[in-house]
Amino acid sequence: MQKQPDPIDPQQQLTEENRLLRQQLRALTEEAHNNEVVLKRFHERELSLLTCDSLPLLLNLLTEGMKKSFDLPYITLTLLDSSHELRHLLLHTDTHPEDFTAIRFLDSADQFSPAIAALKKPRLGVYVRQNHSILFPAEATDIGSVALLPMLRNNRLAGCLNMASRSADRFTRHHASDFLNRLATIGAICLENAANREHLVISGLTDALTGLHNRRYLERRLNEEVSRARRYQHPMSCLFVDADHFKQINDSHGHHAGDMVLRELSQRVSECLRASDVAIRYGGEEFALILPQTDIKEAAHLAERIRRAVSSQPIALRNGPDLSITVSIGVSTLDPSLTAEPDVLGEKLLNEADQAAYQAKKRGRNCIAVCSRPE
Ligand code: GH3
Ligand code: MG
Ligand code: MG
Repeated sequence: MQKQPDPIDPQQQLTEENRLLRQQLRALTEEAHNNEVVLKRFHERELSLLTCDSLPLLLNLLTEGMKKSFDLPYITLTLLDSSHELRHLLLHTDTHPEDFTAIRFLDSADQFSPAIAALKKPRLGVYVRQNHSILFPAEATDIGSVALLPMLRNNRLAGCLNMASRSADRFTRHHASDFLNRLATIGAICLENAANREHLVISGLTDALTGLHNRRYLERRLNEEVSRARRYQHPMSCLFVDADHFKQINDSHGHHAGDMVLRELSQRVSECLRASDVAIRYGGEEFALILPQTDIKEAAHLAERIRRAVSSQPIALRNGPDLSITVSIGVSTLDPSLTAEPDVLGEKLLNEADQAAYQAKKRGRNCIAVCSRPE
């Protein structure tokens, strides 16, 4: 007779099922918890990008910041900057593009490496030296896996965030890349916003006709420069440049010709200046030049050089006659014996240069006058 299988104890079966279910539940709870932690970290990263209000800070966050946050040895950023817009904006914020060693600015989309040129979504996987070494610093010889995150704006590649890990399993094809994709997209949007914001700041502080700084910028900058000159006991001077008989140019040749002359005039003045000097279109045909680390003698020499540069040859107008133009220039310098507030000293510096320019007019124009101060 065949032996009957032992009857299954229903109680035992229930206990076993219960154990398995508990085990599953624990695993799911753990996974949910892990996902929550990951989600929270990604939210924090996104928030840091979204609340960043300056272009240099944003570029730092995308590279150094993300490197720390993801605990990775290398992160680089490749940015398409064909009109040099980003690089120029950085210079305006007094940051040098070359200071961002982890960022490569490309002049054209053709310069994208083949590894990223065609990317439409993140590529996670093993490091392939032949394809990826160009994206990372030369000393990065210990990379195991990479995540290349294309930054797309309106379906066009604006750049690529390149992450590298020493571990070969950190980024694999099997990892979900939705969060990384979202982060790169947010990065691209923030970059565009930051660039627009910098443009607005610049346009608010720049004169549209000549491209020089405007008076609002002068108000900001003059205080800074005066404070710095006082702190380091450096000399500082100012020139006030006023075009001679400018009204006649408008009256005889029209406002447009007048505008062209103003542009050429500001160009000639700028060419005489050092990088540290600040040129401002103060009013219609008046320019103020702030000269840090310049004493009155050097300032007077510069004034004479500018006077000659302007008057040396007539300005050639397109479809019009050549026009001769001259300027009268007033020179003033910061009085080191005064201890008033920087804004008071700055205003005095400007007033004295303006008064000196008036003296130059009285002396017959096309000349310079130095503000004389009782010894
Ligand atoms: P002076 O030698 O005494 O300085 O004589 P001036 O004619 O230069 O001085 P005035 O202050 O009498 O005239 C300045 C002229 O500059 C009048 C104004 O129409 C002109 N002007 C101011 N801003 C602009 C501008 O943006 N474009 C043009 N075309 N003209 C301007
Ligand atoms: Mg004037
Ligand atoms: Mg004038």
